[in-house]
Amino acid sequence: MTKTDIMNEFATPELEVLKEMPALGHDELLEFFEKTGAIQYGHFILTSGRHSDTYVQCARAMESPRLTVFLGEQTLKKVPDEILENVDLVVSPAVGGITFGFAVAYALGRDFIFAERKEAKMMLRRSFTIQPGQKVLIAEDVVTTGGSVKEVEDLVKEAGGEVLGVVSLIDRKTDKKFSSPYWGLLEFDAKSWEPEACKLCAEGGEPQSLGSRTLS
Ligand SMILES: [Zn+2]
Repeated sequence: MTKTDIMNEFATPELEVLKEMPALGHDELLEFFEKTGAIQYGHFILTSGRHSDTYVQCARAMESPRLTVFLGEQTLKKVPDEILENVDLVVSPAVGGITFGFAVAYALGRDFIFAERKEAKMMLRRSFTIQPGQKVLIAEDVVTTGGSVKEVEDLVKEAGGEVLGVVSLIDRKTDKKFSSPYWGLLEFDAKSWEPEACKLCAEGGEPQSLGSRTLS
């Protein structure tokens, strides 16, 4: 088997397989995220300092590589075929987007790279490149305002590439900073309150502190 044979066998878009696959509904997806611990209920202090009765930690949904690929497939089912057929490359912002981006690229049979911050600037390292004219799908785990996605979008455009769209596991349903078409697998908007207005504190509950950007 030559390298070309290997590339042809493993880097072929699986669009026909994707089309045949049933799509899970919102309730089934929500149950999946709850069962994996990606969505937890309780009384939490978010990194913003606000209190919430819900904790979203997407990494928990991706502890099983095979289930992660399944989630990638489910997400791609939301994206129109004419977009999927034209994607050359999947790009994710580090760190949260890497596992999901890999799964999306695997499901699509396309290459995957990630961008990361160095001294606060989002860039490609590890000799990753985006070629002029390459058509890119950006994959992120949770999109709230999409700040990191916007930075990757700019990076692709600077390299002469074209962003065909953005996908994520969870869409927090807030206004987005980026302009590309967007599809989120699960729309999920958890409520949060300033500490003095927290209904759980008012009931005498003790909040739990957790550290992650995705909490905000
Ligand atoms: Zn509270």
